[in-house]
Amino acid sequence: MTKHVFVTGGVVSSLGKGLTAASLGRLLKCRGLSVTMQKLDPYLNVDPGTMNPFEHGELFVTEDGGETDLDLGHYERFIDENLSRKSNATTGSIYSQVLANERSGEYLGKTVQVIPHITDEIQRRIMSLAGEDVDVVITEVGGTVGDIEILPFLEAIRQVRLRVGRENVFYVHVTLVPFVGPSGEQKTKPTQHSVTELRSRGIQPDAIVCRSPEPLDDHLRSKISNLCDVELRGVVNLPDVGSLYEIPPMLHREGLDEQVCRQLGLDGRPVDLDEWNELVERVAQAQRVVRVGIIGKYIDLPDAYLSVVEALKHAGFDQGARAVIEWISAEEVPRHIEEGTLRSLDGIVIPGGFGERGIPGKIAASAFARENNIPCLGLCLGLQVMVIDYARNVLGLEDANSSEFDPMCANPVIDLMEAQRDVTDKGGTMRLGSYPAVLEADSEVARLYGSLEVSERHRHRWEVNPNYHDALSDGSLRLSGRSPSGELVEFIELATHPFWVATQGHPEFKSRPTRPAPLFVGLMEAARHRADGRAPRLIDLEAVDA
Ligand code: GLN
Repeated sequence: MTKHVFVTGGVVSSLGKGLTAASLGRLLKCRGLSVTMQKLDPYLNVDPGTMNPFEHGELFVTEDGGETDLDLGHYERFIDENLSRKSNATTGSIYSQVLANERSGEYLGKTVQVIPHITDEIQRRIMSLAGEDVDVVITEVGGTVGDIEILPFLEAIRQVRLRVGRENVFYVHVTLVPFVGPSGEQKTKPTQHSVTELRSRGIQPDAIVCRSPEPLDDHLRSKISNLCDVELRGVVNLPDVGSLYEIPPMLHREGLDEQVCRQLGLDGRPVDLDEWNELVERVAQAQRVVRVGIIGKYIDLPDAYLSVVEALKHAGFDQGARAVIEWISAEEVPRHIEEGTLRSLDGIVIPGGFGERGIPGKIAASAFARENNIPCLGLCLGLQVMVIDYARNVLGLEDANSSEFDPMCANPVIDLMEAQRDVTDKGGTMRLGSYPAVLEADSEVARLYGSLEVSERHRHRWEVNPNYHDALSDGSLRLSGRSPSGELVEFIELATHPFWVATQGHPEFKSRPTRPAPLFVGLMEAARHRADGRAPRLIDLEAVDA
């Protein structure tokens, strides 16, 4: 029987509810349990695919091409499992389904209502993740208790307890215990109010995770226990920590996983946190600062590139280095080149994106990195601008461009493939999710992956134009990885450069703290070399065995 843990949030948003849920997931996995996770989002967008990254942060792509909330990235990185599009449900997607059912007559003429139709659909989504091979589903309810939009979700998770039995459900409530006043007194009142609100919806939390700047004292713990009617051991303190990787061990010391297991009758094995503790140790020891510039369009909201930043950190830990991110606005690249900022960097990432803004700056950054031996990694749009830079500045095709930015250009080195050209509904034409690639045996990318058959997640429409493959690969540029049919370019690299590599995919989505993404490791390896002040190095590439 699959057990369910529900995580709700109180008092304010941005308390780290997702990280708390993900950390609990990791702890349960470390007890040998199979865990999957889900995020229920109260907003009305059908999925986050069309949401502005300026506003909502990164869009996280799953293996099966789901365009999901960035919290799924935290889940995957912490529990080290691939999730699917089923792991993210929004109010919009739930209503769409119910309305479609209504149109097709499924409700047999009944009045369609929030209760039971919407709440049933929410439960169907939750239950769809349960199964024989899943011990625990952890479901995070987005938003804050007290929000109007959250009510159907609270009602649904209350009903799940009735459906599957009390002994199979555990409710965690994450709240804030602020310091107030000149003397910095810790206040429990907001937590009490939030729990009262939750109880008014019929949900009594089994554990309260108290977020606070400093650890809670014992007196406060008993006060919260007493007033919120939660066992003392259910009052879990999670003060601010230096690195987010410290959260799982901290929750474990506070006994959260033990309480969940005891109450749910999950006699798991003892927690094996060795791998995670090694990671925490590696993080603490990674002191060598390596400065990597992200040439971005959405730099005012760094969450827009969350997985890229995480992947850089993971690769840093692997290289004993601490990745320090320098945010460079693509539009200001010329100034940064002039002032020497770009030259002072140890490495550069040109990340993914849409639309024309900032493109000249990205092309200039690619050229500067190429000409000055600065390690440079291009991701998706990054690959496209690096190809444009090469075509213009090395091959001399001055008007080379992407037809995304100049539909009339004479040399569209980046173009839509035939099948996509006539489709007017752009939403349906993206190459989304995991796609395989075949690498050339003696390439830098094959060395880094240690394999010739790889796959990465995608989210884009434009491709390197097959009409230019020959011209592009005539000199020092290598099209070192392609789709199995050979038609699509998946990886490029420059043979005469320490690291100038790009991919049409988004390897950042598959990077895990304990298993960094190979291309990011390659970038950090070369960037660390540069940070150490050593001369640019060219690696002798030997053929990787298939
Ligand atoms: N705009 C480009 C395309 O659609 C790149 C997309 C991206 O970087 N994710 O192909």
